[in-house]
Amino acid sequence: MSNAKAYSASSATSPLAPFSIQRRDPTPHDVQIQILFCGVCHSDLHTARNEWHNSVHPVVPGHEIIGRVTSVGAHVKKFKVGDTVGVGCMVDSCRTCTNCKDGFEQFCEKGAIFTYNSPDKHLGGMTFGGYSESVVVDEAFVLSIPKNLDLAATAPLLCAGITTYSPLRHHKVGKGQKVGIVGLGGLGHMGVKLANAFGAHVVVFTTSANKTQDAIRLGAHEVVNSKNADEMAKHAGSFHFILDTVAAKHDINAYLQLLKRDGTLTQVGVPAEPLDVQVFNLIINRRSFTGSLIGGIAETQEMLDFCGKHNIVSDIEIIPIQKINEAYERLIKSDVKYRFVIDMASLK
Ligand code: NAP
Ligand code: ZN
Ligand code: ZN
Repeated sequence: MSNAKAYSASSATSPLAPFSIQRRDPTPHDVQIQILFCGVCHSDLHTARNEWHNSVHPVVPGHEIIGRVTSVGAHVKKFKVGDTVGVGCMVDSCRTCTNCKDGFEQFCEKGAIFTYNSPDKHLGGMTFGGYSESVVVDEAFVLSIPKNLDLAATAPLLCAGITTYSPLRHHKVGKGQKVGIVGLGGLGHMGVKLANAFGAHVVVFTTSANKTQDAIRLGAHEVVNSKNADEMAKHAGSFHFILDTVAAKHDINAYLQLLKRDGTLTQVGVPAEPLDVQVFNLIINRRSFTGSLIGGIAETQEMLDFCGKHNIVSDIEIIPIQKINEAYERLIKSDVKYRFVIDMASLK
């Protein structure tokens, strides 16, 4: 085992602070990674503050990890020392259940092992995430990073990228379709870039008037101020698909009403409180209201390769780890353009 510097929340009400964790010695299938950059996902904040009532403290968040391989176990085939690699939201699963075999490790019937706040079968306790200087991960859950992409701006693809790519692909979003993206934060801005790359007509719904110009630059064809009922009403019954990335309680019915016949609204944002669905908004136009959780490992690699080919990365603001609590407060105020990424050199 080795010690690693990290930042943790010691309780739901504590700010993140320096902390020392242990990382296992690499087993024959493990890759040891020096973490260079880690994106800041709103899920990190939900978990650090126990907003989903499932956190075991101390929590070391972080699941948008880009790093360099520092050593590999004897049986590792895909990676060698010096490679640039990524680790996303999962570090393990049973690999034998139907969902794992079908490439849906996130839905592992025995429970996926998430990068943080999951039981750690190697060391006991819980897994610790990417707000740290190093991590040890089985090679089956390590991703290859396209060489042409900026490393810091690629980190958010590991969660925000796959979480938007997967439902857009599953629902076959593309040319000739009108697609809505609700919330222009970390997930939302990736959703805009990807839906645009897939050829859809993209409409952004934002509560932040100061994000309108950026929305267009990121790939939106139209921008709607979601606080303005008249602007919303103009789009009634017109969408094939809407992806909702909002992290807080909001009126979901306002968006269901915008779906056309057989349209789908997929929820990826996970507010702590339940959302109230008015059933009339589902039965009219035979609409679907669905959810989606990240994506499997093979699909995550597919997404990274797609982004490499189309030169898609996140728009980021790089911060030192010492600014993490400030970044969380800004996330709550929707003051993010469009993903904070921690430069892990600041942890030294
Ligand atoms: P984020 O960067 O904070 O962005 C969320 C955006 O939602 C904000 O920037 C804001 O956009 C909008 N928003 C916030 N509060 C709002 C409110 N009260 N009403 C309306 N809009 C509001 O968060 P993120 O990292 O993208 O994550 C978004 C959510 O997805 C979180 O709940 C996170 O836990 C969840 N998530 C789910 C998965 C999954 O697999 N399903 C994966 C990752 C994250 P505007 O300023 O444009 O209004
Ligand atoms: Zn995330
Ligand atoms: Zn499984």
